[in-house]
Amino acid sequence: MRIAIVGAGPTGFFLAGALLKSGPESLTVDMFEKTPFPFGLVRFGVAPDHPKIKSVTKGFQKTMDHPRFRFWGNTTLAEQGGAGVTVEELQKHYDRVVLTVGCQDDRKLGIPFEDSTNSFSATRFVGWYNGHPDDEHLNPNLKVSHATIVGAGNVAIDVVRFLASTHERMGMTDASDHSLEALKTNTIEEVDVLVRRGAWDVAFTNPEVKELLDFEDVQFCFYPDLPPLDSPPPYADRTSTKNMEVFHELANRRVENPRMTVNFRFQVSPKELRVDSDGQVKEVEVCHNELEIGETRSQLRQTDKTSVYPSQLFIRSVGYRGRPLAGIPFHPKWGLIPCDKKGRVTDLEGKVMEGLYVSGWMRRGPSGVIGTNKKDATEVGEVMLQDQRAHQTTSRRE
Ligand code: NAP
Repeated sequence: MRIAIVGAGPTGFFLAGALLKSGPESLTVDMFEKTPFPFGLVRFGVAPDHPKIKSVTKGFQKTMDHPRFRFWGNTTLAEQGGAGVTVEELQKHYDRVVLTVGCQDDRKLGIPFEDSTNSFSATRFVGWYNGHPDDEHLNPNLKVSHATIVGAGNVAIDVVRFLASTHERMGMTDASDHSLEALKTNTIEEVDVLVRRGAWDVAFTNPEVKELLDFEDVQFCFYPDLPPLDSPPPYADRTSTKNMEVFHELANRRVENPRMTVNFRFQVSPKELRVDSDGQVKEVEVCHNELEIGETRSQLRQTDKTSVYPSQLFIRSVGYRGRPLAGIPFHPKWGLIPCDKKGRVTDLEGKVMEGLYVSGWMRRGPSGVIGTNKKDATEVGEVMLQDQRAHQTTSRRE
C-alpha cells in the first residue's frame, strides 16, 4: 500500500506515524514538502521562546528514520494557476493521497492602506523571526516608537512577546539571525494590542497570558478599565476566568521606568491605516465597538466614535486561511478543502473524490494547539486504511 502525504507539518507527521504503526507491513509513506525542511508549523510557526512545544519533533524524527518512510523536500504541490506536482499525478502512483498542507495564507482586515510599508500579516512576521525561507527578506523596521498588533489569539500574543523581548532574551532561542539583529535595533516604546471584543472574549490560552508576568520591566495597561472579576458573562469558563485574573494582576502592577508599555485596547476595530509621503504606515484609525453580552459570546456593533493611534509598525493577527490548490475543490468562504465527516475530500456538492483525503487545519480550520492535530490525523489514518481494505475486497471480487 503506497501512501503520499503532502505537507510535512505536525499533522503530516502524526498521520505518517499512525499509518506506519497500525497499517500493514507492506505500507510505505512518501512525504512531500515544498520547503527543503520537515516539521512545518512546529519549525516556522511555534514561537522561538517555546522550545518545549518544539520538542514534539523528537517523535517526528523517529518517523523520519522509519525504513518505510521517505521525505521529499523542495517538492511543491501546484497551487491554482501555478507550477508543481499535481494531485492527479500523485494519484497515478499512490493508492491513497492525503493533504496536510495547513492554512498558508492569512486573513485580511480589508481596510485602506493595509499593505503599506511596515504593515504585515502575523503569518509573514512569524515566518520572518522563525527563519522561513519565504520571509527572510521581510525586513520589518523595529526602529520605531509605536507598534500595533490586531487580534487576541495566541499568534498575536507570540508577536507581543517577540517585540517585548530584549535581544538577550530572544538570543537564547532559535529565532532567526536576521530577527535577532533587528531586535538589537528595537526602539519600540509602546505596543497597542487592538481587540475587537472585550477582555472576556479573548482567544489567548492561559500559559500564554501568564508568560506576560515574566516581563517585569514592561508596563501592561488595559483600556477601557477591565471588567470586575465577580460579574462574568454567561459564557465565561475556566480559561477566560484565569485570563481575567492575570489581566487584573498585570493591570495592578506598577513598573518604575518601564522599558516598554503594552496597551490592550478592547472594543476597537481598525478602520484605516494612514501613511506618510513614502507610503510608510504612521497611524491607525479605529472605530469603537459596543458589546451586547450573549449566551455564548458577545456580539459587537460598531459605533460612530473613532480614535487615532500612532503606529509605525502594524501587524494583523486575525487568523489563517487556506490556499487553493490545482485540481482540488476549495471552499472560497471558509478557505478550506471540502470533505466529509471522516476527512475524505469531496467536491462542493459533497461527492467524495476516491482516494483523496485532507487532515489538519485544511480539514477543520485553523484552530487548536499542535496536539489537536494528532486526533485529527489518527482519525483520517484509520479511514484511509479502512477504505483501502474495502477497495481491495471489491477489487478481488471483480
Ligand atoms: P485565533 O485564535 O483564531 O485568533 C484570531 C483573533 O483574531 C481573535 O481574537 C479574533 O477575534 C480576531 N479577529 C478575527 N477577525 C478579526 C477582524 N476582522 N478584526 C479584528 N480582530 C479579528 O487565531 P491565531 O491567533 O491565528 O491562532 C490560530 C490557532 O493556533 C489557534 O488555535 C491558536 O490557539 C493556535 N496557536 C497556539 C499557540 C500555542 O499553543 N502557544 C501559539 C500560536 C497559535 P474574535 O474572537 O472577535 O473573532
